[in-house]
Amino acid sequence: MSTPSFNELGLSQPVLRALGEIGYTEPTPIQLEAIPIVAEGHDLIASAQTGTGKTAAFTLPLIDDISTREFGPGDPPLVLILTPTRELALQIDENIIEYGRYADTRSCVVVGGIAVGPQIETLRRGVDFVVATPGRLLDLIERKAIILDEVEFLILDEADRMLDLGFVHDVRRIAEYVPKPRQTLLFSATMTAGVRSLASTIQTDAKSVSVAPPATVAENIEQQVMFVEKEHKPDLLIDLLKREEVELALVFTGTKVVASQVARRLERSGIKADAIHSNKTQSQRQKALDAFTTGKVKVLVATDIVARGIDVDGISHVINYEIPEDAENYIHRIGRTARAGARGVAISLCCVDDISNLRGVESLVKQALVIEEDQPFHSSMVAGCLVASTRAAKQRARAGKGRGSGSKWAR
Ligand code: AMP
Repeated sequence: MSTPSFNELGLSQPVLRALGEIGYTEPTPIQLEAIPIVAEGHDLIASAQTGTGKTAAFTLPLIDDISTREFGPGDPPLVLILTPTRELALQIDENIIEYGRYADTRSCVVVGGIAVGPQIETLRRGVDFVVATPGRLLDLIERKAIILDEVEFLILDEADRMLDLGFVHDVRRIAEYVPKPRQTLLFSATMTAGVRSLASTIQTDAKSVSVAPPATVAENIEQQVMFVEKEHKPDLLIDLLKREEVELALVFTGTKVVASQVARRLERSGIKADAIHSNKTQSQRQKALDAFTTGKVKVLVATDIVARGIDVDGISHVINYEIPEDAENYIHRIGRTARAGARGVAISLCCVDDISNLRGVESLVKQALVIEEDQPFHSSMVAGCLVASTRAAKQRARAGKGRGSGSKWAR
């Protein structure tokens, strides 16, 4: 099933236009879950870290809502966003300006460590959004330089950090200044007892959502790529699996058919191997897994779906016979090695057909895989195609096609 687009989330044209220009091609998981809840007017408690796209998850529907209203000069804010740090406040303000570029959104940062005069002046002229750290905001409240009587949306970002930094009383005080009924959204990387207790006192019937942190690769996995022509992949795989350092290897293919073919080919060449995929019965799968766990079978050939359940210590190598289209699967795959602090090697066999998937993987893991040429089937032709495709991608980016590749957030 394909991911719904920003369009299907009901966002307005000015916001969609801005997102198109920025290059966001599809919503992230937190955006998919949170935007409809916010747009429907519910309180929300969301477990999500920085890096998941949470800022857009709350700012986009609010920009949409605010942009439909009439404003005059000197109007007090409708949205108050509280953050633990100045840097985060500035970042959120930048995002609001970016996303709201066609919605006439007016925002203001209220943070310590910089002159207060310009902040008061901006507030005096009238704003829709205020992004603030608690200390400076209370200072301005006391000076009567900001009025919170019209605030309809209260957002607490990085609530757990706010508590760690000792802001809990300040936050509770500020919440008292914001009239009810209101919509209160709380985002936190961790859901500690303190965060829940704060939420229970400032929110009403909040809906909760939770998304996994962005995928990461363990540092003790050595990631390599080998360039090879498609017809030589079986021979290269056999060559690799016969190497002494390979203790237990998990080989991944994109389809069940290829998994079975590869396992048969390995058996024919004298390597003890079995295939595990969804066409096999539960007992066949269990048998294969037991044989692998005990080392009777040195190689298991698997597809992505069944691999999630494989939790075997001692897998020295993960080999991507085909590089997955969904880059997150790459991370799930290679996470089967280097368990319990051991070192592991992940080798991806890359033919011309795999090049765009390799690029997706490298963009997700934010590094180029190490090219291993010291193998009998190295193909300079495939390496050349990768260089050409990278050059073309850079040219496209320079031509201003936007920065979203689309694969980054795929599930
Ligand atoms: P955040 O978790 O809000 O700090 O966002 C993390 C990063 O993801 C920021 O650099 C955003 O610009 C970027 N981002 C947010 N939403 C999307 C999206 N739908 N597609 C691509 N990038 C995004």
